[in-house]
Amino acid sequence: MLIHFILILKPEWFLFGIGFNIQGNHNKLSYSLYSLVCSLGNPSPWVNYIQSILNNCGLSYVWTSQCLGINANWLKRAIELCYQDQFQQHWHSIIDNSNKCSIYRMFKSKFQFESYLNNVPFKLRKYLTKFRCRSTQIPVEAGIFIGVERYHRLCTLCPLHVLGDEFHYIFQCTYFSVERNLYISQQYSNNPSAFKMDVLFNVNGLDLVNLCKFIKCILSKFS
Ligand SMILES: [Zn+2]
Repeated sequence: MLIHFILILKPEWFLFGIGFNIQGNHNKLSYSLYSLVCSLGNPSPWVNYIQSILNNCGLSYVWTSQCLGINANWLKRAIELCYQDQFQQHWHSIIDNSNKCSIYRMFKSKFQFESYLNNVPFKLRKYLTKFRCRSTQIPVEAGIFIGVERYHRLCTLCPLHVLGDEFHYIFQCTYFSVERNLYISQQYSNNPSAFKMDVLFNVNGLDLVNLCKFIKCILSKFS
């Protein structure tokens, strides 16, 4: 009965409670439950999962010492930070190694909220969001759904015969030269590079609004 009660608790709750249990009042029910689990020699995968969390965070000694001399609040914070770091490393790894993110990684270097979401009216910012996330019908994306190899997903609007990706339409495609001159400052459009893509996609104010308007023009050709 007691074991069944323990097993329905969330592992994270139990884990963060270890420090409080061991260092707290030994007459509490939670301490008795924890002692029972230990006396039975970790009888469930659930308990092993708690131990694996500590091992994954480089905190094996916390389990070994049974929190002897460990501050419970510190333990909770240490595990939070460790899991945040591990998630962000995984996030960077996916972006760095995915063809789908070949342009995205030029301007997205930090895992954080993007300020443009608050700084541009929804009717405009939705075009930028689609463009950033490659949720569009430009050749580099549309070709996926009709089985075209990546190197054959070329722009058909201009004579440059190059891959029709976001970089091409923002900086190179001659079909949009008039709109580019209207909306994009020459400090960005001259001698385009990954660095300028990064700067342009992280601008604010009027430059940001104009970027959204330019992208709206581009996407209207691929809707
Ligand atoms: Zn083109």
